[in-house]
Amino acid sequence: MSETRVNLLDFDRIGLEAWFTELGEKGFRAHQLMKWIYHLGVIDFDRMSNLSKSLRTRLSEIAEIRLPEVVTDQVSADGTRKWLLRLHDGNCVETVFIPDGDRGTLCISSQVGCPLDCAFCVTAQQGFNRNLTAAEIIAQVWVANEQLGRSAVGDQAWPGVNDTRLITNVVLMGMGEPLLNVENVVRACRLMMDDLGFGLSKRRVTLSTAGVVPGLERLAGLTDISLAVSLHAVDDELRSQLVPINRKYPISELLSACRKFIGGDTRRRITWEYIMLAEVNDSVHDARKLVKLLSGIPSKVNLIPFNPYPGAPYRASSNAVLDEFREVLLAAGIMTVTRKPRGQDIDAACGQLAGKVQNRRARAVNPPVVEVHP
Ligand code: SAH
Repeated sequence: MSETRVNLLDFDRIGLEAWFTELGEKGFRAHQLMKWIYHLGVIDFDRMSNLSKSLRTRLSEIAEIRLPEVVTDQVSADGTRKWLLRLHDGNCVETVFIPDGDRGTLCISSQVGCPLDCAFCVTAQQGFNRNLTAAEIIAQVWVANEQLGRSAVGDQAWPGVNDTRLITNVVLMGMGEPLLNVENVVRACRLMMDDLGFGLSKRRVTLSTAGVVPGLERLAGLTDISLAVSLHAVDDELRSQLVPINRKYPISELLSACRKFIGGDTRRRITWEYIMLAEVNDSVHDARKLVKLLSGIPSKVNLIPFNPYPGAPYRASSNAVLDEFREVLLAAGIMTVTRKPRGQDIDAACGQLAGKVQNRRARAVNPPVVEVHP
């Protein structure tokens, strides 16, 4: 009967306090519960020893902590790890962990599939089913933590806030467009940044958008997490082909929404993602135009080598072209890095996440699976 129970992962701190208050309990019960769930990795009410027996019984009657099921767990030769997670309705999403020295970035999904149809992205071909709930978004962090804890230090350990942290950064760069699911995304991000949740700083939680301007405006009123924008082209004609949402919110509108998002705060900047497609958007002329577009906006540019997939209509730019493009930006004083493709051998790199979207006619791309038993 899990459908009728409240999933407690759906609440951020304020929501959980209100829920306990409605039950006639003190608000600080919410804090105790959060510590069990997010610091200690305990989801069994019976083990929450500082809650009274009667409260624990009541919780198990009306509430639950519902997690997705790990369907597959793949490890790349470069250490990148990808999980396929099955949600209660049978839909599946993917979550990727990318270790890099003492930094560990978790790339999470915000929707089942994606409705935006960007021309170079596999997720788009899956079609779209629905938004993820806040619980399904934060659960990806919980499950990854559990999976990493197990494999790294044995069954008992939970790499929590006061422990050696394996997940140091979270990026909303998996399946879906987070700004089409603002409320749930923000609630989940609050849990990531809450000291009683995963305790990450706002600089270490990054939302990536294809440029949904109204969503960006809503986001600005709710949180000041870090923002990455998938720009990919410097003129509207090309951008509308590559990122069709540009027909609705053209580059000039997008840039002014981004300017507003960071406001006058000089410590903040926007990360621009720019996929490098051979002979499409990768000329020196494009680079110069990019410099002009970004002038006056505190910026960092991430050049993303195109990750090919079967049937892809594009090719990746050569290293020489990539370097030349980067040089133009660097010479103009724009901090620019080329993103290292990670986890390509397990289809875990940018734009390769496919998941499993139900009730869509779109063709299913199922990557070969290597099972791992932690
Ligand atoms: N919808 C959001 C979140 C996805 S983030 C957004 O568009 O920003 C995933 C990033 O990978 C985006 O910058 C996306 O444009 C990029 N990407 C998609 N397909 C890719 C591919 N085949 N190769 C390289 N990058 C890709």
